[in-house]
Amino acid sequence: MSSLSHARPRHSFQTDDPALWPVAEKVRAGERLNFDDGLALYRSGDILAVGWLANSVRERMHGDIAYFNVNRHINPTNVCVASCRLCAFGRKKGEAGTYTMALEEAWRTAAEGITDAVTEFHIVGGLHPDLPFEYFLDLVRGLKERFPKVHVKAFTMVEVSFLAKRAKLTIAETLLKMKDAGVDSMPGGGAEIFADRIRHIICDHKIDGGEWLETAKLAHRMGFKSNATMLYGHVESDDDRVDHLLRLRAVQDETAGFQTFIPLSFHPDHTALAHIPKSTGMLDIRQIAVGRLLLDNFPHIKSYWQMVTPKLAQISLRFGADDIDGTVIEEKIYHDAGATTPQGMRRADLIRLITEAGRVPFERDTMYRAVTRSEDTFTVSA
Ligand code: SF4
Repeated sequence: MSSLSHARPRHSFQTDDPALWPVAEKVRAGERLNFDDGLALYRSGDILAVGWLANSVRERMHGDIAYFNVNRHINPTNVCVASCRLCAFGRKKGEAGTYTMALEEAWRTAAEGITDAVTEFHIVGGLHPDLPFEYFLDLVRGLKERFPKVHVKAFTMVEVSFLAKRAKLTIAETLLKMKDAGVDSMPGGGAEIFADRIRHIICDHKIDGGEWLETAKLAHRMGFKSNATMLYGHVESDDDRVDHLLRLRAVQDETAGFQTFIPLSFHPDHTALAHIPKSTGMLDIRQIAVGRLLLDNFPHIKSYWQMVTPKLAQISLRFGADDIDGTVIEEKIYHDAGATTPQGMRRADLIRLITEAGRVPFERDTMYRAVTRSEDTFTVSA
């Protein structure tokens, strides 16, 4: 009996797309998929078959559990030296609409506007030309002093590389100072698409794909867990997507430091690529499914409801996703790019979405430990 059918008896897989037959055999046998398999999954017209396979793997790994968390995003500044064409958030110094939080303001913001105690601060922002590295370290230290129980997930590989250059430190020295200040783990942003040809078009000023992956590797070796993203739905091809996923998988084979893969749907509004049409539901759902199937060594696949809408995130819980992200208070980056989703979602709303998808809600902390609540505080299981 295959491992898939052993996990949960299901009626047999069916598709009239012959390109999926060998892929299905490998998935059944628990074998690793290759580049061509990835292309077949991207190109198949039978999205239900692709989703069925991804869901089989998802249920084998997580059963009916669907994870969510209660987090708060802090974007300390939107001033940025880079001019990524994909971006609607960053502004040049002196331009209208720029902001930079004073430290007191950032700490105050961290405590405002929520009814549930947050378990995580998610901190990312622009590459500010003048803010010293100490500002970011003080930001984290101050949060840890005020909210010692809250996990700090801060600074993408792109920010780490930039801060290292600003502070004239090596990447390892920079990561060590972050760790000493209280950074607990790192988000997965800035990965975009690793292929140089695409990076030159969408984010020419960012570190290249190889540097992003090397920084992640080093962070993992120094004890940080991180996430990994892929920005899709712009000028990339199926080949570029598969290449991106397989490069992530290769790093994960070495470090096992990635927790979650998060495909990010490109929002073109207010960016230099505003002429590109928005992604469609089929494209969004396929990224989740293909991510689950190719990234066999990633524990979690997240459908980020802020990007794909709560309704599609809910459906994706049947297409390979096991995580629907969090309550997310005050997200700025995707909303500047035209995301029309609400700024935040209540815990009860997330639970309802999950339950109505036939899944079992599981409130997690950043490390996927169970969170139990009482009054206005929380406890994380050991
Ligand atoms: S994507 Fe990030 S690095 Fe690029 S311009 Fe926007 S804020 Fe700056």
